[in-house]
Amino acid sequence: MKQYSLTIQGLVQGVGFRPFVYREALAHGIRGWVKNTPQGVIIKAQGEHSEAFVNALRTHLPPNARIDSMEISLLEGEVYTDFTIRESVVGEGGVTIPLDRALCPACEAEMDDPHNRRYAYPFINCTDCGPRYTILHTPPYDRVRTSMNTFGMCLACASEYTDPTSRCYHAQPISCPQCGPQLRFLNHQGNVLSGDPIDHAITMLKEGKIIALKGLGGFHLMCDATNDETVGELRRRKHRKAKPLAVMFGSLEQLETYVSINEVERNHITGSIKPIVIVDAKAGTSLSPQIAPHIQRLGVFLPYTPLHRLLCEQIDFPLVATSANISDEPIIVSSDALLHSLSHVVEGILDHNRPIVNALDDAVIQIAEDRVVMLRLGRGFAPHTFPLARSITQSILALGAHQKSAIALGDHTTMVLSGHIGDLGSIEADGYFDQTIETVLRWYQCTPCLLVHDLHPLYSSTRYAHHQPSDHYGVQHHYAHILACMAEYGLDETVLGFAFDGTGYAADGTLWGGEVMIATLHGYERIGHLKPFALLGGENAIKEPRRIALSLLFESYTLDEVIRLKSPTVEAFLPHEIRTLHHMWFKNINAPRSSSMGRLFDAVASLGGFIQTLEYEGQGGMMLEAFVKDSITEPFAFEVNDGIINLSPMVLEIIALEGDKTQIASRFIATVVAMIAHFVHRYPHLPIVIGGGVFQNHALMRRLYRRFGEGAFYAQQQTPINDGSIALGQLYYAIHN
Ligand SMILES: [Zn+2]
Ligand SMILES: [Zn+2]
Repeated sequence: MKQYSLTIQGLVQGVGFRPFVYREALAHGIRGWVKNTPQGVIIKAQGEHSEAFVNALRTHLPPNARIDSMEISLLEGEVYTDFTIRESVVGEGGVTIPLDRALCPACEAEMDDPHNRRYAYPFINCTDCGPRYTILHTPPYDRVRTSMNTFGMCLACASEYTDPTSRCYHAQPISCPQCGPQLRFLNHQGNVLSGDPIDHAITMLKEGKIIALKGLGGFHLMCDATNDETVGELRRRKHRKAKPLAVMFGSLEQLETYVSINEVERNHITGSIKPIVIVDAKAGTSLSPQIAPHIQRLGVFLPYTPLHRLLCEQIDFPLVATSANISDEPIIVSSDALLHSLSHVVEGILDHNRPIVNALDDAVIQIAEDRVVMLRLGRGFAPHTFPLARSITQSILALGAHQKSAIALGDHTTMVLSGHIGDLGSIEADGYFDQTIETVLRWYQCTPCLLVHDLHPLYSSTRYAHHQPSDHYGVQHHYAHILACMAEYGLDETVLGFAFDGTGYAADGTLWGGEVMIATLHGYERIGHLKPFALLGGENAIKEPRRIALSLLFESYTLDEVIRLKSPTVEAFLPHEIRTLHHMWFKNINAPRSSSMGRLFDAVASLGGFIQTLEYEGQGGMMLEAFVKDSITEPFAFEVNDGIINLSPMVLEIIALEGDKTQIASRFIATVVAMIAHFVHRYPHLPIVIGGGVFQNHALMRRLYRRFGEGAFYAQQQTPINDGSIALGQLYYAIHN
């Protein structure tokens, strides 16, 4: 009789994998055992049909599981009489991090059934759904190491947990109204209100009030998305002027009355993760115009916890559901912290006593030509682990950039990229950054021998590296964007890289951001870039695109000509202001030069009259996008000399269009595609790799996929295309050098 030993790595913990193995073992008459270990899931299997059993493991995987590797060896020895699930082993080495999953259809059916003991139970879950990473203290994933460890199972739950035929067999957070977490409703002074907590929440929402609700990875701020006054109040209280707010809908039917979605978008919206998906908003709906001012795209999602669902099904309007935080700081995870910093924002808090161990925002994605563009690595996707082709002998920690901070660790045969931390530079964000590092090092039980960071000397992440005893090394920001894409696809060849984003620090201290590189895993050559233009007033120019646009006009016209131009940019200034800025430009006073593509988007948004002063990062590009027509594909003129892209011809053509928004937006996007095509034409045999925040632009990504998507064109799908994966690029470099 053959006996096999199997070691399986991948997404195999917290996804119902052991119960699945158990069921397959019974079905194939296999004896032996299965257990979680730090090296993955280990199975000993003995029986006539071992081969069929191994095949079934590969082909019948549970919905959320993924096998990265399966080592099989033939064994002699022990004879087993039955098949069992053994206790997990805690120790050194590889770790599998289980990911949070949205409420599944089977649990939905149970919570809707008045005869079920979990009828309307806000914490129902099973082996296919529920909290995982967000409640985990330390892997491996077992109840004793989660924040469910203080809740003893009642007899009924315990019998389901140990019954191999139950869908809750080994569902670690299993509970019921008798033994599980409890809801409570607090007013904004922190007093618990008597009566049904969900009823309080519903009443307040219907009255046009703002509440906080405890989700999986943190609190949401919620209010009636159709109530213009309330949404305006939320914006005022949160000091969030115009940045779009995500909207949660009670059902797919309701969602589709507000937005237009295609099949692929629908699959993500209704799938097992239920991230925020950015889609096309329909015009003329009852949504408050303050949800996403001046843009035609809207972040939408469906209830993904039983608690969200209980709330939404008793309300007939969509809800604003935005992370509870202060501007771009980390999401808040406790009612105490919420009362401390947001008691002026919320009128009530729907809270419960299952602690959130690891804070995590909702993931945000969009779909371009049926491919995912990851905008924020969050719930359900984070932390993201990749297998490494070859084991590394020493651990490496990469610290990422500054905005959209995330960290990455390389250890043994794994790379892990953390979820979205937020923008560094505040006490809260830097504290959460430290805590994320502490958690990942503790989970992987390692001390990094090398820290990798950005070249910018003032980033909190760079300073962190300089204050540690370990060796540290800086990787150029835009090269790291290219490397991040190479890491996701496991590329090791020479590539033609396009890194288009905001301003990032270059080796020579200048500000890059519209870069074309021939890159390998060991270095890069900058073969092209936008001709640098002046950011008049430095930081002020980043907030006021009109200053950048003006410097582009100075490159193409004399001062007197500029003052007489018929242009929204010129109209946004008084003549004496233009003279002062011209003096700054001419004398090079507080006018740092940058080749940033992100800043060029802003400048074009000013020249086209879309916006002159930004209320949030990326607003220029998003407003421009709203006017892009697919039928207009003619690019503006530009010149390339020695790889330097001269924009003067484009500026003249834009001025000639006299503020025709549709023409300007559509032709500008076509121009960016044409710039890429220019270099692709020169290096036709190199695979194309793109990265950087500019590629969050939906219109641009759609056109790129149409133009290059059938060839060797690589754009990240699993990891953020913006600064959220700089750490991954830094890590990939260090591993190979
Ligand atoms: Zn379920
Ligand atoms: Zn129970």
